[in-house]
Amino acid sequence: MSDERTDRHGPATLGVHGREPHPVPGAPVVPPIVQSATFHWATPEDGELLYSRYGNNPNQLQVSRKIAAIEGAEAGIALGSGMGATAMALLAALESGDHVVASSRLYGATHALLSSELPRRGIETTFVDPDEGDWEAAMRPNSKVVFLEIPTNPTLRIMDPRPVVEAAHARGLIVMCDATFASPVNFRALSVGIDVVIQSATKYLGGHSDLIAGAVSGRRDFIGKVTRMSHLYGPTLDPHTAFLLDRGIRTLDTRVRTHNQNAAVIAEWFERRSDVARAIYPGLAAHPDHELAEELFSGFGGMVSIVLEGGGEAADRFMRRLRLAMAAPSLGGVETLVSQPRRTSHAGLTAEEREAQGIPDGFVRLSIGLENPEDLIADFEQALA
Ligand code: PLP
Repeated sequence: MSDERTDRHGPATLGVHGREPHPVPGAPVVPPIVQSATFHWATPEDGELLYSRYGNNPNQLQVSRKIAAIEGAEAGIALGSGMGATAMALLAALESGDHVVASSRLYGATHALLSSELPRRGIETTFVDPDEGDWEAAMRPNSKVVFLEIPTNPTLRIMDPRPVVEAAHARGLIVMCDATFASPVNFRALSVGIDVVIQSATKYLGGHSDLIAGAVSGRRDFIGKVTRMSHLYGPTLDPHTAFLLDRGIRTLDTRVRTHNQNAAVIAEWFERRSDVARAIYPGLAAHPDHELAEELFSGFGGMVSIVLEGGGEAADRFMRRLRLAMAAPSLGGVETLVSQPRRTSHAGLTAEEREAQGIPDGFVRLSIGLENPEDLIADFEQALA
């Protein structure tokens, strides 16, 4: 199919139908799971050699096309995890001697990949503070990639990627962005000039906390390189997981809209409470990036962070007392999940280092689910009491 259908159809329609042609009579309405590692093939006359590690299993191809359609990309590839997607995208773009300019506020494993793993392959990274750093000054003659994460975890800051994109493109750099926290419903990263968008599909795309997957979308030639890299490293998406991911994406738009609504109500409730020192949500007028979020995003998202008066002890107590929301890492599922960065993603930092990143003890991150917001508020109220 041409990309024409993407232009004509909205994200909810693309989530259900992708860019697929109308099925012929007798075709199943839902793509069947093709749980086969390999496919009958004798000679090149039999067509393309199909093998599920190659990413050309029908379920892998179908969900990859659908994700590309939702991102507004020429092409996409769904892989076995968000980290698989990040790693394959970086390895596809970089070789020994190259340099990366990256936000200093990245998901922990992405930061570790850039700071500890890629140097072993001769690839260096300069980290830039997205709030006050100088991106252009960090770019070197051997820089090849700029890596961003919008919004940031868990502080929910939103940087303006457009000046960085302009500076990067003037020097021939590729700009990649992990847009997992926003999902493609709230932030179409490619529409602001970003070249490659990465999703941990484990989160909003899958949407039910029952699978691990990732996706890379962008130009067809680049996705071809990512695909070739994944042939070698093998972070393939299992066909059954591809089926589950496709099923999740069918309701992505509707789910994210409800996440947005519920999170807004709950953030406003937290903002009014005296036992909450700070409520952090891009939809609140007090959020430092509220206006930018309004401009760049079509929804403010389902993630809310709070800082409790009473520090770490108050946060531990809050987490222990929850009866509806569940203490667990991860996000983007139908159920409300709550975590403390000091015990999960940022456990490796000292309290002072966390504080400097805007994550004091008492900081709690909430992935607001699809429950009735009044029930969640009742749960939070009893847990804070
Ligand atoms: N990017 C972000 C922003 C994440 O929050 C995560 C996981 O929490 C990842 C990437 C990695 O995704 P996965 O766990 O699917 O490998």
